[in-house]
Amino acid sequence: MSAVWLKEQLLEIASALYPDRPPVVVREWTDPVCLLDPEPVGHRFLFLVAAGGDDRPASPGFDDVLDAFTAAGWAAHRWRGSGPGESRATASRDGFEVRIYEGEGRGILTFTGWTPVEFTGRQLRQPYFTLSTVVDGVVCNDCNGWGVCLECEGTVRIDREDGGGWERCWCFASNGGPGRCGWCLGSGRRTADGMGPWDRKRSGLPDAGSAFGQPPVEGGHDSAISAFTDVAHRPCACGEFRCLWRNELTGADGQRVSRFFGTCQSCLAERTYAFALARRL
Ligand SMILES: [Zn+2]
Ligand SMILES: [Zn+2]
Ligand SMILES: [Zn+2]
Repeated sequence: MSAVWLKEQLLEIASALYPDRPPVVVREWTDPVCLLDPEPVGHRFLFLVAAGGDDRPASPGFDDVLDAFTAAGWAAHRWRGSGPGESRATASRDGFEVRIYEGEGRGILTFTGWTPVEFTGRQLRQPYFTLSTVVDGVVCNDCNGWGVCLECEGTVRIDREDGGGWERCWCFASNGGPGRCGWCLGSGRRTADGMGPWDRKRSGLPDAGSAFGQPPVEGGHDSAISAFTDVAHRPCACGEFRCLWRNELTGADGQRVSRFFGTCQSCLAERTYAFALARRL
């Protein structure tokens, strides 16, 4: 199985759910994975697919979406505690994962799928998180999502500079425990709640921002999928495009407004856009 296989799976499942509405590949990209050295040791492939278009019928519902993944051999689990009107689930199969999301008010239905990390040289275990797979936080800047001390790669041993054997790594006494990353306590992830101003600065993050604001309402799109494809290619002020986008579709006086909001997966900024969707003739 490969990245190509994953992309085909996502498109097949989406097409089977909505046979008369071809799915859209909104974006495809990779997440690099590094150890201590900034040169990547591996990467994973990711695909973001939008299913059904935004005038898709109310049925299939979200349960039918999960059933479609199950029928295709995936283990699907619905998330409890999503926002009101939103639905979320994850599906996994042989180290591949898909995040399934449906926005509020018949907002967009998206599948974000990723491959396992493929290593170019040394075959390592999978990191806990990569840039795009982290939820409610960012990848730990100190361990790059591995959860271990990168100085010793979790062995607690460091070769002595004079070539005479090894010495114990400083992480032996770290908050996370021997061999583990002391900043994320071995989880590989930092959350906004878990970081004070000094810690944010140290991790290269801007000061904590305010909650989602009211963005200006833009035009230029006649469907939420078209607007989403635009949004998915816009970078955050920090330069990062990776963002866990959520969506809601509201309508008043025959005017549909599609709103996107999400937290930047690099700097934790809360991003938001809104589009008045043009009426279709
Ligand atoms: Zn860490
Ligand atoms: Zn160490
Ligand atoms: Zn950002």
